[in-house]
Amino acid sequence: MSDQIAENLSAIRSRIIQACETSGRPATDVGLVAVSKFHPQDAVEAALKAGQRVFGENRVQEAASKFPALRETWPDLRLHIIGGLQTNKAVDACRIADVIETLDRPALSDALEKAAEKTGRLPELLIQVNTGNEPQKSGIPRDEADAFIKASMLRFGAKVRGLMCIPPEDEDPAPHFHFLTQLAQRHGLPVVSMGMSADFETAIAEGATLVRVGSAIFGSRPMTGS
Ligand SMILES: *Cc1c(COP(=O)(O)O)cnc(C)c1O
Repeated sequence: MSDQIAENLSAIRSRIIQACETSGRPATDVGLVAVSKFHPQDAVEAALKAGQRVFGENRVQEAASKFPALRETWPDLRLHIIGGLQTNKAVDACRIADVIETLDRPALSDALEKAAEKTGRLPELLIQVNTGNEPQKSGIPRDEADAFIKASMLRFGAKVRGLMCIPPEDEDPAPHFHFLTQLAQRHGLPVVSMGMSADFETAIAEGATLVRVGSAIFGSRPMTGS
């Protein structure tokens, strides 16, 4: 298993470099978030041994069971929470995450502010935009994004680093990626997190600075709905 993960990681890194070259961007522009949700701690460890340091998890509870122990051996690992965050998980998220990619509503801002006071720690924040305005998906709706981004930057200052999106599954993702990059630029935000196993090269062409890749590194996920 660990050989396979190392091999997959190396293939993804090459594809990222190639996609950067194709769009005339320096390869250092784009970071890789290895999405390890539903995969065991062993799989994360294999990726760490292969040099990967940035990981994404959907659920705070699952992340809390895997990552704190790994940090003891790999103090420079970075954990991103990339799934919709319930307000009652804000304290745990502040304790364990380096980046929360899914700030998407005022109630969560309130909860994170309180959680930061309680824990003395506030992760970096990305604002998730529901670029397709899909009712079942988290993310601030498209036409409320400008106001929410401004309010979040006022409230959290430089902790707000950028934007994140997951385009609708049945549409060409490119226009969604394009929209998100423009929106980030308009607000002077440097981080744009978009693109997954199936479309990260398109995302890089459209300006992604972080791609979140799961199954192409760790294999398909057992028992998931997502
Ligand atoms: C699962 C997930 C990914 C990774 O998806 P793959 O298709 O396995 O690469 C990326 N982003 C989010 C928000 C996810 O939930």
